[in-house]
Amino acid sequence: MTSDQPGCILAIYNQKGGIAKTTTSVNMAVCLAALGRSVLVVDLDSQGNATRSLGYESTTTRSLQDLLAGTGTIDEAIGRTRFERVSLLPSSVSLAHIETRLGSELRSQKSISELIYNSDLPYDFVIFDCPPAFGLLSANALVAAHSVLIPVTPTAFAYDGLQRTFDVVHKIQAGLNRGLRLDGILLTMMENENISRHFASLLRKEYRSYVFDLEIPRDREIVKAALRRLPVCIFNPHALSSQNYLAVTEEFLSRRNSRAAAGARALTQEIVVTHDKAMETLERFRGESAQVEPARSANAQDADISVEDSAPAHAAAPSRLGFSHLVAAAAGFAAGVVLGPRILDIASHAAALLH
Ligand code: ADP
Ligand code: MG
Repeated sequence: MTSDQPGCILAIYNQKGGIAKTTTSVNMAVCLAALGRSVLVVDLDSQGNATRSLGYESTTTRSLQDLLAGTGTIDEAIGRTRFERVSLLPSSVSLAHIETRLGSELRSQKSISELIYNSDLPYDFVIFDCPPAFGLLSANALVAAHSVLIPVTPTAFAYDGLQRTFDVVHKIQAGLNRGLRLDGILLTMMENENISRHFASLLRKEYRSYVFDLEIPRDREIVKAALRRLPVCIFNPHALSSQNYLAVTEEFLSRRNSRAAAGARALTQEIVVTHDKAMETLERFRGESAQVEPARSANAQDADISVEDSAPAHAAAPSRLGFSHLVAAAAGFAAGVVLGPRILDIASHAAALLH
């Protein structure tokens, strides 16, 4: 893919909890890695589920909260995961406090866009795993992102809540991030029965081509994978949900390619990795993570964002995309605010959206 085109910062967002945002974030991250791309996952949920399921392995000297408070550099907060080409800016419980910051405290805070656009980060993609509910962190993610992917489950509650999620996205598009693009609506936890099909067809009628062709089925393998703190694509690459996550990731990349071609912006460094090759890589990741597993259970009884000494021999992938490209690109898409809006702008915007 493309490294020097806008579109690489993706927020996985829906105001509702429990609709597979984290599952989608971590599985798309490992699938992008299997398809040859380097990825940074930013875990914005204080519950840290993405952090846990990516087998977070490095000690970092800073947290996202430190960075937002203006202390340290983003490199000091990014750690390795167990998976080649996947890095992580982990969550911490203290993230929850960020949502409750007020006026004078906020004055010294940085925004996530400032952090990202001021750094020369070496990733093809950045994925924000947003917390449930709309607050300061989700607003930050949507302001920093080029695009948003909205997972939806086929239930009446989720369908009703979707309008609020779209309202937020539209208001961010009309205000602080005019370049924010809806990069797709993904049906997850689909069941093979009439109610699921009914909601899927409503959604496809209303949102048409925004809805991914592929759907993620409800799959017990995902539940088993969560118990082992692994993305299902690693736990069992041959599970139906894993196959569909890989196919959705391929669809996501090919949609980007078509858009770039339509916009006459040929992708200069497109990486082509076949589906079979990506499956081989997921199998390899699975083998590597199985080797780490015994040490993990011995060392970390309740592996709560645990630290491993025996990290595999791969680190964060070397640099391909300089974020300085994005800074330049951002000038065109981020309403002229190259370094992104300040945190106070975002806070007041978020507050306005909540009322
Ligand atoms: P969110 O991040 O939106 O709160 P999660 O990704 O944490 O949602 O998913 C919520 C729960 O549903 C988790 O326990 C997860 O393992 C489970 N889950 C997610 N997707 C599926 C699926 N396709 N089939 C079965 N269970 C799923
Ligand atoms: Mg989550």
